[in-house]
Amino acid sequence: MTTTLITGANKGLGHEAARRLIAAGHDVWMTARDPERGARAAEELGARFVQLDVTDDESVQTAADTVAGDTGLDVLVNNAGITGARSEVPDTTPDELRDTYETNVFGVVRVIRAFTPLLARSNAPIVVNVSSGMGSLAVTTDPDRLESKLVGLSYPSSKSALNMLTSQYAKTYPEWRINVVDPGYTATDLNGRSGHQTVQEGTDAIVEAATLGPDGPTGTFFNREGAVAW
Ligand code: NAP
Repeated sequence: MTTTLITGANKGLGHEAARRLIAAGHDVWMTARDPERGARAAEELGARFVQLDVTDDESVQTAADTVAGDTGLDVLVNNAGITGARSEVPDTTPDELRDTYETNVFGVVRVIRAFTPLLARSNAPIVVNVSSGMGSLAVTTDPDRLESKLVGLSYPSSKSALNMLTSQYAKTYPEWRINVVDPGYTATDLNGRSGHQTVQEGTDAIVEAATLGPDGPTGTFFNREGAVAW
């Protein structure tokens, strides 16, 4: 059976991805920084639970040790993310960027590093990084796209960094399937439920990337409709 771990799975896209991957037959570790909310969500869906705060070295390593003591790991979904401060560009401080990067960028590196030994023992390791169209230079400079009207420093640049991390990890582990996905604008707490997609639609690309066969693509960026330009 395929074993999958999802960060930030207590709600939103991570929660729906857990539900769908369990339905697809995966043995899923739902993780969350809040142990009560996370454990409750996992119990409701019939998943395993381990506390994991992507900004905390000890929490991430303890989670990796817990998983290693119980199961292997085939699929890692780096879903946890924050918008961070939404200051106007001239007012944005380095500390605001650092806060956002701590979760959206450094958190992903921390989690991948901790789970690499486990993934390396899988026959078909998969990493799914959940990015955004806001991280695409092509999308955010296309005047026909909504993303080009949303101007900020923290979130967009953190997701651009995540895109590059994904590309570099994919080159480092060519036998693994390591891709980055854009869920699309989806109604979750991240955007005050203003997104036009349902969480089912928003998890299509995540589920696709998490269920790729060993001959599937790696080092690519896609959404539910297909390739996204970097
Ligand atoms: P959400 O409903 O706000 O969920 C975000 C999840 O990340 C929550 O479980 C949250 O936990 C968790 N999280 C935040 N900081 C964390 C940390 N330090 N450690 C562990 N977990 C942490 O948002 P969402 O829309 O589902 O977002 C999921 C991913 O999709 C994010 O990476 C986001 O950037 C991306 N995305 C979303 C959209 C969209 O339109 N919704 C579009 C493009 C990309 P708490 O409940 O404890 O805060």
